[in-house]
Amino acid sequence: MIFGGIQKNSLIDYPSKVSCVLFTQGCNFRCPYCHNPQLVASRSTRSPVFEQDVFAFLSKRKNWLDGVVISGGEPTIQDDLFDFCGRIKDMGFAVKLDTNGSRPQVVEKLIRLKRVDYIAMDMKTDPDRYVPVIAKAVDPALIRASAHAILASGLAHEFRTTCVKSIVDAESIRAIGVTITGAVRYVLQQVQCLEGHVLNPNYFKTHDWHLDGESISALRDIAAGFVEACTIRWTKRV
Ligand code: SF4
Repeated sequence: MIFGGIQKNSLIDYPSKVSCVLFTQGCNFRCPYCHNPQLVASRSTRSPVFEQDVFAFLSKRKNWLDGVVISGGEPTIQDDLFDFCGRIKDMGFAVKLDTNGSRPQVVEKLIRLKRVDYIAMDMKTDPDRYVPVIAKAVDPALIRASAHAILASGLAHEFRTTCVKSIVDAESIRAIGVTITGAVRYVLQQVQCLEGHVLNPNYFKTHDWHLDGESISALRDIAAGFVEACTIRWTKRV
């Protein structure tokens, strides 16, 4: 596993658990609003976090942490994710996976092998609208397959959408709703453009990205018809 960072304590990243967050290095998407741009390239320019150091850290925190969040970057592009999750579970931690849903075969295998306890998947927009903003090429069937595998798994889960006006509107929320019908938890996240801290700051200068609170609330009302609970995660506009 290649890691770009570790957050040693979190009370919010794994619902109802005290967790740490492991950030894997490398992502196959290029979301302009990505808040972890240093994790997107396959190799970090910063000091890497070595796997043995991760296990040494977890051994010391066994009595303090309930769960481990494996986030990114995109964890499912790492070849040894299955073994890594297995080792973490063998240590007694619950495992939460954060994924962009682009590799359903990996998600399905993790579920089948019982290597994860909770999955959070991003739904960037209508799967048919990922190209070209999210990536140059994305097969929408893969996104739908990941969502369906999660829904069928019986595992704790959530889906989430960052509300960027240029790609998220009533129509795309309906398409997402159809894809994730029956989901236990769906979170709409207000986008935050921290200039210099997003992957593509230029996108925010050239696109109408901001959705106000009223508009996001209207999107929640649409989404609520498809899922058990839809909430909004507000951020302060900068
Ligand atoms: S926000 Fe997009 S680019 Fe950034 S890590 Fe997640 S999927 Fe990759």
